Amino acid sequence: MAGVMSSELLKAQEENVTSMCICPDCPSWVECGEKGGFCFETIEKSRCISEENGCICLGCPVAISFGFEYMYYCTKGSAKEQSK
Ligand code: SF4
Ligand code: SF4
Repeated sequence: MAGVMSSELLKAQEENVTSMCICPDCPSWVECGEKGGFCFETIEKSRCISEENGCICLGCPVAISFGFEYMYYCTKGSAKEQSK
C-alpha cells in the first residue's frame, strides 16, 4: 500500500485544498460557482476561466505546503498534469 493514496484521503485533502484556495481573490478568477483548488489532482481545470490575467498561486498556502511551483492551474491543469 505504500505510495498509494486512498480515495478517502484524496477526498479529505481536496476539501482542505478548496477551503484554503485563494483563487477567488485572483485577477483571472471568473465567478461561476466553482471552488478553485485547480492545482490538486482530483480537480479539473476551470470551465469558466479562459483568460490569464495574473495568477496568485505562488503565494497560496496550498502551493507552499505542497511545494507546487506552477501557475495557471485553472487553465493549464493540476500540478500533476503540468509536471508531465
Ligand atoms: S495553489 Fe492556486 S489553485 Fe491551488 S489552491 Fe492555491 S490558489 Fe487555488
Ligand atoms: S489557478 Fe492561478 S490564475 Fe487560476 S484562478 Fe487560481 S490563482 Fe488565478
